[in-house]
Amino acid sequence: MNFKENKTVYSSNSKSNNKIALTFDDGPHPKITPKILDLLSKYGIKATFFVIGVNIDNYPEPLGRIVSEGHEIGNHTNSHTILKSVDKMKIFEEIKHCEDKILKATGVQPKVLRPPCGMYDEELVDIANLKDYKIILWNIDTHDWAHMSKSKIINSVYKEVKGGDIILFHDYISGENHTIEALEVLIPMLLQNGYEFVTVSQLLQY
Ligand SMILES: [Zn+2]
Repeated sequence: MNFKENKTVYSSNSKSNNKIALTFDDGPHPKITPKILDLLSKYGIKATFFVIGVNIDNYPEPLGRIVSEGHEIGNHTNSHTILKSVDKMKIFEEIKHCEDKILKATGVQPKVLRPPCGMYDEELVDIANLKDYKIILWNIDTHDWAHMSKSKIINSVYKEVKGGDIILFHDYISGENHTIEALEVLIPMLLQNGYEFVTVSQLLQY
């Protein structure tokens, strides 16, 4: 995880001026994902959802909305396996199974991959290159998964945000979850400050 970013691995794009990318990991969730989609739609903004294959099995419905409302779907593996600690066959399988489920549910081939916990190695970079995926990390972590309070989530973004940032949230969290209440404050605040919300692939075009 310490080697230099190359054309496959991205955690921000400083060339994108005022554009930022909200990313939501670990879904789809039957209740939270639709609520986040409602909020994004209220403000007419776009985001990226890094979904897990086994959650697609259980709650496929939000996937159609994610795509039809103009958001991006990314691959977050089939079972949230740490790809750094498994062999090549298992890496291929984890990526492929999630990809097949996304394709089946939406007809869309994902182009971005977020390794669980952001952990990757050169083997994964090689495989991502081979399969034409970009590996997407982040440069602002809200730690919302650790049941952070609404104000802590807001502050973690607001005190650091700048154009080109990729911000990590979760739409699937077991237990207490303040992601949506934080977003209800953050989105209008960031819009007022002139930020434009785009998908990860759009952010990387600049
Ligand atoms: Zn995750």
